[in-house]
Amino acid sequence: MSEDGLAQRAREIAAEAVGAVARAAAPEELERLRVTYLGSRSELMAMPRAFRTLAGAEERRVLGQAFNAARTAIEAALDQRARELERSRLADLAETEAIDVTFPGIEPRIGRLHVLTRVQREIETVMERLGYHVEVGPEVETDWYNFEALNLPPGHAVRDMQDTFFFTSSEDLLLRTHTSPMQIRAMERLQPPIYVIVPGRTYRRDASDASHSPQFMQVEALAVDEGLTVGDLKGTVMAFAEGVWGAERRIRFRPNFFPYTEPSFEFDVSCGVCAGRGCRTCAGTGWLETGGCGMVHPNVLRNGGVDPERYTGFAWGLGIERIAMLRYGIDDLRLFYENDLRFLEQF
Ligand SMILES: [Zn+2]
Repeated sequence: MSEDGLAQRAREIAAEAVGAVARAAAPEELERLRVTYLGSRSELMAMPRAFRTLAGAEERRVLGQAFNAARTAIEAALDQRARELERSRLADLAETEAIDVTFPGIEPRIGRLHVLTRVQREIETVMERLGYHVEVGPEVETDWYNFEALNLPPGHAVRDMQDTFFFTSSEDLLLRTHTSPMQIRAMERLQPPIYVIVPGRTYRRDASDASHSPQFMQVEALAVDEGLTVGDLKGTVMAFAEGVWGAERRIRFRPNFFPYTEPSFEFDVSCGVCAGRGCRTCAGTGWLETGGCGMVHPNVLRNGGVDPERYTGFAWGLGIERIAMLRYGIDDLRLFYENDLRFLEQF
């Protein structure tokens, strides 16, 4: 083929290729065209070998220009078509995968805190406002912290009232029957003035019924300072009760006996169902038994490393379930532990 013929052929190939590229509908097709027109075995790419057989530099220059022009035109056409196809793909995506913001969403199931956790945190908030801070401690205790240090020596009758889970591996280890061991631990760890609140799980060997559970929750407060009196104790219990049940409920104290406090009291809250007039819930008395309290026994202070000549203290405690039952009118303790969502979702 003459040089004119070759140059003409290069222009024809370019025209044909540019036309085919412009009609290509997919990137895969473009790739196929690239191989067809610019691949190492293509007619165009074979041309430079043909050049060499031509004698004159002028002829080679003319052919070289035609070859370069053809190759550049095809490459430009491929690039442009590739960009067009990509733009159109994105436009389709925007169309087909657009988010319809008016479409109703799927509402996620939102979890909630257990009613006892909520009540516990409320109690903590009420007491923190009075200057107390939260202490938590071990649920596996020794006999010393759970009983003996609290003025309950071996053989004491109150031990029998608190039916205890002992560990078979050691007679000294048990599941705490109340949160009071933390009174000793707090006094050991902190220097007076001490103002702590202790919420937590406690355990007793009780069969499960409407008012008993082998696992239950208590909260107790301990204050140790110079010059604390029964008046401070009553004022604190009343402030606590007002924070938890509201100002309209009344509190009364009745003398009682606990080994770890002297003097000791029980406190009742006026019945919220009948406002103190007497109803079935309060058995006609107008009052609901709520918790226990008293001035910390000097032996207990001493066992905690506190000098009872210099400091006095008071403590009170009650069941967290009891607070929730009085608040919400729940009549069966087992409901708290059965994990029935129909119950739990009400709070
Ligand atoms: Zn009542």
